[in-house]
Amino acid sequence: MLTGCRNLSWTFFSLTSRRLWTRQSFKSRAALCSSAFSSVLHSLPSSTHSHHILPSRQSSARLPPSVNFSSVHSSGLMELKEVLQVLEQLAPLSLAESWDNVGLLVEPSKPRPVKTILLTNDLTDAVMEEAVAVSCDLIISYHPPLFRPIKRLVQKDWKQRLAVRAVEVGIAVFSPHTSWDCVKGGVNDWLVGGLGSGQVSVLSQVLGAASHSHKLEFTVRSAEELNMIMEELKACDGGTTLQHSGSRPDSSGIHVSVTCCDSALTPSVQALLGHGTPSQSLTIVKLEKPPLLGHGQGRCSVLDQPVTVGAAVQKLKSHLGLSHLRLALGWGQTLESSVYTVAVCAGSGVSVLNGVKADLYVTGEMSHHEVLDAVAKGTSVILSDHSNSERGYLAVFRERLAVRLPDSVTVVLSKADRDPLEVV
Ligand SMILES: [Zn+2]
Repeated sequence: MLTGCRNLSWTFFSLTSRRLWTRQSFKSRAALCSSAFSSVLHSLPSSTHSHHILPSRQSSARLPPSVNFSSVHSSGLMELKEVLQVLEQLAPLSLAESWDNVGLLVEPSKPRPVKTILLTNDLTDAVMEEAVAVSCDLIISYHPPLFRPIKRLVQKDWKQRLAVRAVEVGIAVFSPHTSWDCVKGGVNDWLVGGLGSGQVSVLSQVLGAASHSHKLEFTVRSAEELNMIMEELKACDGGTTLQHSGSRPDSSGIHVSVTCCDSALTPSVQALLGHGTPSQSLTIVKLEKPPLLGHGQGRCSVLDQPVTVGAAVQKLKSHLGLSHLRLALGWGQTLESSVYTVAVCAGSGVSVLNGVKADLYVTGEMSHHEVLDAVAKGTSVILSDHSNSERGYLAVFRERLAVRLPDSVTVVLSKADRDPLEVV
């Protein structure tokens, strides 16, 4: 996550130019995402953890069907749009937070086969130079290099300069960001896995798309009246989404339940109000969207093998490949205190971790006062610096991506990419 991302959502309402697409996008996101839940779960990487559900966030997602690439790369070469389809399978963009700016951010005007993909946490000047040096065709930058609206492309702004450079050298730029955070088996599952196996739950659940948003319950006096009303209701939504069930008739009539989509609600209610018994018995229930199990921001793990705080620090150093971490001991805790539960959120995770009851928080960065709040509640905090809590996942993703691509495509990890902060 980006620092303060959750506070930036307003900027997107005025977003005028989020992506530099120099030709028409190959497919709409909606088309890519039209899909069936079961096929996606099949295609997503499996996690070593089991998941259960905690309170959900208000967003919705659709997951893509599996795509058979056997015919796609019969030539041995892959086009950008085909690589994007593979990326979509690994982490559907619809899982990303609504404030985020994910997907294809720079699309070259001259299509060319994708032979080299460079994975980086951040697209900096150094990484761009590296991309050019290795003749990269596609940069996958976990953080979106274009995030806020832009009204010009000038050299004095480093992000605009990089976007111009990408266009000039014909390199596509893609950012998955929070779709990688949220996907089952993604960044946060990788991060929490550093403490060992456990019973893992999602802290901020992603919700699926629901075609039926409301249920109308009412009573009719006879089968004839039911048939007449159902014909009227079908006309309200074109007969495409309506589903209904009815009970056996009893002394009060037939109890009917109809589910409908948002757009059909008002005309359906109007139709029912035109009938005596149905209008008097009408109840409207708003339906919850189904949770996408295992997908969402942050993870909490009840560890199979509790560890001491000191051991947790050592495990995370090893997992993240770092020689130093920052630790704040919870009130009353020592390095020998046991950690039974750990809550993690890669990047700047306090908005997700806030209020979560756990022995230990792990994230990239928290402010002084946020750390004090956690410590006062007896929760220890380990901070790694922002991107150090994310970058290690690139190697995991590289393996998952490489096995889904033909031999003509090389996926490399950036050597120039690093957290800007270092211990001196
Ligand atoms: Zn981040």
